[in-house]
Amino acid sequence: MQASRDNRDFASEVIARCETLARFSEDTGSIRRTFLSPPMRECHREIAGWVAPFGATSMVDAVGNLRMVYPAAKPDAPRLMIGSHLDTVPNAGAYDGVLGVVLPIALLGALNGRKLPFAIEVVGFSEEEGVRFGTPFIGSRALVGSLDEDLLRRQDAQGISIRKAIEDFGLNPAEIARAAMQHNVFSYVEFHIEQGPVLENADRPLGVVEAIAGQSRMEFTFVGHANHAGTTPMNLRHDALAAAAEWIGAVEHRALSTSGLVATVGAIQAKPSATNVIAGETRLSLDVRHQLDEKRNAAVDYLVQLAEDVATRRGLRMQCNVLMDQRAVPMDPFLVSQVEQAVSKAGCEPYRVVSGAGHDAMILAEKVPAAMIFLRTPGGISHDPAESVEVGDVAKAIDCGLHLLDQLASSSQFRRETQHV
Ligand SMILES: [Zn+2]
Repeated sequence: MQASRDNRDFASEVIARCETLARFSEDTGSIRRTFLSPPMRECHREIAGWVAPFGATSMVDAVGNLRMVYPAAKPDAPRLMIGSHLDTVPNAGAYDGVLGVVLPIALLGALNGRKLPFAIEVVGFSEEEGVRFGTPFIGSRALVGSLDEDLLRRQDAQGISIRKAIEDFGLNPAEIARAAMQHNVFSYVEFHIEQGPVLENADRPLGVVEAIAGQSRMEFTFVGHANHAGTTPMNLRHDALAAAAEWIGAVEHRALSTSGLVATVGAIQAKPSATNVIAGETRLSLDVRHQLDEKRNAAVDYLVQLAEDVATRRGLRMQCNVLMDQRAVPMDPFLVSQVEQAVSKAGCEPYRVVSGAGHDAMILAEKVPAAMIFLRTPGGISHDPAESVEVGDVAKAIDCGLHLLDQLASSSQFRRETQHV
């Protein structure tokens, strides 16, 4: 019982620290902390002060990621990376991303000086949300070596390029290659709030992420004939908005009848958009996600064919184009099973979930085995000041994290893998 009380103390501290970091904001009265903004520097200074007492080193790499290393029992040991992002959306909550940086620091505290056969690198990524430059994952992309010159030339609303922003923060873009993960990193683990209602609905404090869903984003246009709403009989119409409505209903039906599929028409524009005119043209967005690419692609193919069929039957033309086609990223099966065991040992029934949103783990998974642990999000609310976490859930996540560290330290697979390091 002593251990669980301690974890609750650590959990309270985690929540208090997330609230402390919320004060480092570009806006007064709300949280906004974008890539390499001045409050990010204060955030780094504060966090570095928290890990220093554990004998951990801190540095900021060339893209502004805060990198903290808690040493292993022996030198030249492999390294476990645990992290998330420190940037936020405008009018953000205090926990999205930040929790996944502060919580592993609590794990270091709970180790109470104990050293493991691997070092632990806690990473606070500089950019995940894509707010300042319209492109996400700048921080984690540097770790996998996929930040190219094209990306560095991208400009924010003030015309400042990523390269210039890096220089203005006092960092050197020529050193970006050195931010890449070293070969001694054997796994990446990320704690993150779920940002959805699934865990709360299932009454589970923690979720074991088995995959990050792939995404298709498309644009559809139905072209018919605008005409008088009073004088054109129903059987002589080519109504682009009625066609769109028929198709939107089918999109929802297809998603409801396919397990794990989510499909959304979130935007629609009708022309000429007048009460007494039959719509001549409609333009619609489509967003389709699933953990299995073949299911997602099959759904997209079906919906494209259906749009063509609806258009043909109604005497309309249909066009569509693909804006994004991002494959699903499965989490590493060995790590997922280890997380499941750790969740069990923390007294929770393991519950597998799919992340419908992208995360840094998706990028890191290109190079190292990766896993994610979701924490229940009250009300499913995120990207909003009302975002929160329960102290009891954070305590369970800490308990789970400590079990995971011990399991990895003693697992034969870990020892086998790290012999090659
Ligand atoms: Zn996030």
